[in-house]
Amino acid sequence: MEFKTIIEPFRIKTVEPIRGRSRSERERALAAAGNNLFLLKAEDVLIDLLTDSGTGAMSSHQWAGMMRGDESYAGAKSFYRFEAAVQAITGFKHVIPTHQGRAAERILFGTAVSPGEIVPNNTHFDTTRANVEYRGATALDLPCPEGRQPQEYHPFKGNIDLEALERVLQEKRGQVPLAMVTVTNNSGGGQPVSMANIRAASELCHRYGVPFFLDACRFAENSWFIKLREEGYADKTAMQIAQEMFSYADGCTMSAKKDGMANIGGFLALNDDDLAQRCKNLLILSEGFPTYGGLAGYDLEAIAVGLHEALDENYLRYRIRSVEYLGEICMHNDIPTILPTGGHALYLDARALLPHIPWYEYPAWTLSLLLYLEGGVRAACIDSVMFGRQPDGSELPAANELVRLAFPRRVYTQSHFDYLAEVLVYVKELAPRLRGLRLTYEPPVLRHFTARLEPAHGQLLAD
Ligand SMILES: *Cc1c(COP(=O)(O)O)cnc(C)c1O
Repeated sequence: MEFKTIIEPFRIKTVEPIRGRSRSERERALAAAGNNLFLLKAEDVLIDLLTDSGTGAMSSHQWAGMMRGDESYAGAKSFYRFEAAVQAITGFKHVIPTHQGRAAERILFGTAVSPGEIVPNNTHFDTTRANVEYRGATALDLPCPEGRQPQEYHPFKGNIDLEALERVLQEKRGQVPLAMVTVTNNSGGGQPVSMANIRAASELCHRYGVPFFLDACRFAENSWFIKLREEGYADKTAMQIAQEMFSYADGCTMSAKKDGMANIGGFLALNDDDLAQRCKNLLILSEGFPTYGGLAGYDLEAIAVGLHEALDENYLRYRIRSVEYLGEICMHNDIPTILPTGGHALYLDARALLPHIPWYEYPAWTLSLLLYLEGGVRAACIDSVMFGRQPDGSELPAANELVRLAFPRRVYTQSHFDYLAEVLVYVKELAPRLRGLRLTYEPPVLRHFTARLEPAHGQLLAD
C-alpha cells in the first residue's frame, strides 16, 4: 500500500521554542519598527519566512561533521572532504571556498569581467547584479517570455530566452566575458530551468567561445523539477540530473546557505586552470587561504554533508510538495499567487489581491504587514518599495508587487503550513479593508532594508 501523505522525512532531535505574541504586542512591535519587517526583533515573529538563506536546520550528520572539523590553516582534512563533495556533484576541477555566494560572485567577476562588458543571465539575483555592475559592466536579464506572466502555467518559467541570448552573443561579440543561468530562477519566482534550456544555452555560448556558468544556489531543487516535469528524466536520480546540469557548464557560483543546507558558506568552482589561479590570488586578498576561503573547518564539513543531503529525494519530495500544498490552498481560496509554485517560496500577487491600492501606496508591503499583525508571519516584499526609486530620483512601479513567503529548509512542519493557510485565508477576507502606505524615511540605496512607512489613510485597516 502506498499512502498518500508525504511526511517530513526526519524526526526532531533538538527543538527551539517559538512563542506567539498577542495582536496588540505585535502592533507595538510593528510601530517601533517603523512598519518595516526587517527592523523587527526575530523573537517577535512566530513563523519567519523572510528568507530561505542560511535559516535551515542542520542534520545530526552535519553536526557530527562539525565535530570532525579540522581547523588547520592550510591543507585541512575538512577542505579535502569539502572539495570531494563538490566535485562528486559538479565535476569541476577547481573548488574555491568562500564565506557566501556573493563572495564567489565578486571573485569571479573581479577576475573575469572588465568595465563596459555585458553579462547575460536568465535573471540576475540582486547581489549578482550588484557585483557585475560594481565592475562597471552591464547585467543583462533575458528571462523567457512565459517567465513574465505570473498567472500562466509553464513547467520551466525560469528558462533563459535562447533567441535573445544568441542575439547578444552575435551582436556583442568580444564584449561578453561569460554568460550565466540561475537555477532555480530566484528573482523570477523560484522557477526552474529545464535541462534542454541549460544544454542549449551552453551550446550557444560555446559556439561563440563564451564560458558558461551556473548560479547554482538551488541546484538540487532545480534537479527535482527536471525529474518531475521534463521528459526522459523520471527514472534518473536527482544526483544524476545535477551531474548532467553541471556537465554543460564551465563553472558555477554557489551559496551554501541555500542547497548547501548550511547556515553560512559558498564556493566558486570551475575548470579553467588560469582563471582559477587568478581567482585564488584574489581570494587570498579578501577571503583567506584557498583551502578555507573565509570559513571555519567545521563549516566546510557541514557543507560537504549538506550538499549531498540536499539531493536526498525524500527530502526534495517533502520540500517541493510543502510549497505546492500551500499554493493549492491559495488557489482553492482565490488567493492569487505566481503559478506554478516555485521551489523555495510561495509568491503572493498583491496587485491582483489588492486592486484598490495603487502601486505608489505599496500593496505588497501593506499585505506583508497584515500577515504579521494577524498571524505573526514575516515575509519579504519584491515590489515597488524595493525597485521603485530610480537613479534620477523619480519613482516608477516595479514589474510586480509580490509578497514572498520563503521557506527555511527542514524547519517547519505540516501543522505550521496548515496554520499559515489559515492566516492567508483570514487575511484574504480582510483584504478589501486594507489601505495603502507612504514612506516617512528612505535611505539612498537598497531602501527596503531600512525604510520607514506609515498608513497613508489614517489606519492600515479601514472599519
Ligand atoms: C542567495 C543567492 C545569491 C547570493 O548568495 P549569498 O550567500 O546570500 O551571498 C546569489 N544568487 C542567488 C540565486 C541566490 O539565491
